[in-house]
Amino acid sequence: MVVMVTLTLTLLGVAFLIIWRWWNVRPALFWGWGYLCWAACDLLLLPDFRSASLRPEILPQALFLTSIFLQMHGLQDRIGEAKFALRTRLALYISVTSVTAWLVLFPHLKWVELLIRLMMRLALTGIALATMRRHLKQKVDKLLFGVVVAMTLSIIAVAIPLIHAARLSGGGPISTDIVMMARDVGNVVSIAFSLAIFLAVLLDVAQHHRNEALLDSLTGLPNRRQFEVFRKTEWRRAAHERQSISLLLIDVDLFKAYNDTYGHAAGDQCLIAIAGVIRATVQQRGNLCVRLGGEEFAVLIPGADVSDAFVVAEKICLGVRTMSLPHENNPHGVVTVSIGVAAVVPINNDERTLFEAADTALYSAKSHGRNRVEEAIWSV
Ligand code: GH3
Ligand code: MG
Ligand code: MG
Repeated sequence: MVVMVTLTLTLLGVAFLIIWRWWNVRPALFWGWGYLCWAACDLLLLPDFRSASLRPEILPQALFLTSIFLQMHGLQDRIGEAKFALRTRLALYISVTSVTAWLVLFPHLKWVELLIRLMMRLALTGIALATMRRHLKQKVDKLLFGVVVAMTLSIIAVAIPLIHAARLSGGGPISTDIVMMARDVGNVVSIAFSLAIFLAVLLDVAQHHRNEALLDSLTGLPNRRQFEVFRKTEWRRAAHERQSISLLLIDVDLFKAYNDTYGHAAGDQCLIAIAGVIRATVQQRGNLCVRLGGEEFAVLIPGADVSDAFVVAEKICLGVRTMSLPHENNPHGVVTVSIGVAAVVPINNDERTLFEAADTALYSAKSHGRNRVEEAIWSV
C-alpha cells in the first residue's frame, strides 16, 4: 500500500511538473514539488530506510510539512489569493516545524506526531474551504470544493479513534493497527484530493487552449477561426431550412488616424469598447459576433432577412457613435463605424457571395461618407 501511494505521488508530482513546463500553469509547479516532497517523506518512512537513518523523524516530517505548504500555495495560487494565504501558511509552517522539532527531541510521544499531521491536514482543508467558498463560479472549483469537504470529514472521522487510542495509551506509542489504519485512510483521501486537483489543472489547460484557439485575445470576442466554422454550419442549416442568413461587416472609420493621434494603446481600448457595443447589441443566442482581425468585425445572424439585419446594424452604428469617444480626425468628432449588410437564402449560392456582397456594401458605406449602414444591392 505504502509503495503504491509513494509511486502514485511521484507520478503525480512529475505529471504536474510537466504540465507546468509545457503549458506554463503556475500552480502546477507548487503541486509538482509538493507531491515529490510527499513521496520522499513516505519513502523515508518505509521500514528499510527508517532503520538506516540516525534521526528518522526530522527529515520526513520536514518534507511532509513542505509538501503541505506547497500544496496550499498551489491551491491558493490557482484561485488568486496567494498574498494573504502565503503569510498564513508561513506562520503555520514555522509553528508546526518547531513543534515537530520538539517532538523529535522527545521521541516517546509518538501519538502527538500523528495528531500534528491530522491537524495540519485539517488546517489545509480549513483554509482551502474558507478561500474556495468565495470562488465557486467554475464547475471544476465546485468539484474541488466537494472533494475538500469530503477530505475534511474523513480527517475528522480518522481523528476520533486516534485521539481515543492516544488517551488510552496515556501518551505512549499507539498500536500499529490504528496507526496504519489512519495512515491508509489519510493516503486514500489525499490521493483522491490530488487526482481532483490534477483533473482541475488538466481542465484549466484544455479551457485555456480552447479559448486561445477560438477567442480573440484583445476583445474576448470569437475569432475568425470560430467564425469560419460557424459560417459553414449555419450556411448548411439555412440551405436545408430555406431560411435567410445575414452578415454584417463592420469596419472602424479612420482608425489609422486614431492610432496615429492617440497611440496604439488607446486604439486597443477603442477596439475593446466597440467590441462591447457589438456584443451588447447582438445578444440573442444563435447569432455570432467576431473580430475578423485588425479593426474589422462581423456579425452573422441566421434566420434574419436584410431588413432585420439592417436594424441591428443601425443599432451598432448608433451605439458606437453615442459612446462619444473623441476622434479629432473624424468629421463627426467621435469614433464611428461603417457597416455593410447582406442577406441571402442559400440556394445555388456560393458561400463566398454573401461575404463579397457585404464587403461591397461596406465599401459603398465608406465611399458615401462613413458612419453609415449600407445594404447589398443584389437580391435572390
Ligand atoms: P477607413 O475608414 O477607410 O477604414 O480607414 P482606416 O484608417 O480605418 O483603415 P486602414 O485599413 O488604413 O487602417 C486600419 C488601421 O487599424 C491600421 C492599423 O494600425 C490599425 N489596427 C489594426 N489592428 C489593430 C489593433 O489590434 N490595435 C490597434 N490599436 N490598431 C490596429
Ligand atoms: Mg479595415
Ligand atoms: Mg477602418
